[in-house]
Amino acid sequence: MNHLDDEQLYQAAFADKTFADEAQHHLAGCKVCQQRVANIRRLVAEMAIAAHSQPTARQLAHYRQLASYIHRQPSPWSRLITQIHQMTLTLDNRQRLSLQGWRSGSVKGYRLLYSADSADVELVVEAEGERRRIEGEILPLQPATLNIPVLVEFHASGGQSDQPEIVVESTLQGRFQFNGIPLGYYSLMITPIEGPYLQIEDINIT
Ligand SMILES: [Zn+2]
Repeated sequence: MNHLDDEQLYQAAFADKTFADEAQHHLAGCKVCQQRVANIRRLVAEMAIAAHSQPTARQLAHYRQLASYIHRQPSPWSRLITQIHQMTLTLDNRQRLSLQGWRSGSVKGYRLLYSADSADVELVVEAEGERRRIEGEILPLQPATLNIPVLVEFHASGGQSDQPEIVVESTLQGRFQFNGIPLGYYSLMITPIEGPYLQIEDINIT
């Protein structure tokens, strides 16, 4: 028999009664599956510790969003998310583009690139009258560490509410889009099915 699938591993980790005999036999003789079961138990224990460590209002809002998201996912792996990676701005080509006439309309948009250990996120901002359209793409540096599609939340910075303002799911290629965005400062939170959260603060949309 093949290695256990995600559902069987999860059942094995939590001794579910629906766990099939055939899979039990495989697990008894397979070091790979035993290790995977151990990893699930460890990650769930870490999640339980994190849940008791006074999450911020934003994190709580995020967990609620995540909960609605994972209910649509077939795999229990989606519950195993433990980290937040802050991304830093590594490219902003506005300075150069403004010289070329971004505001006069002869330049279509500008490009922002944010980076973390696990991924880059590119945002291309284009004029849409007085507002802006933002086209984004997630570029995992190691595909194994960040599974696409992801949930993408876009918040106005300094707002009164911790609720997500705009929430979209990326395409299978990691692309996403926001339309009709007023000028201002924003933050962006990316939740993968598995792997670290990515967070970007103080995005200045001009
Ligand atoms: Zn196995």
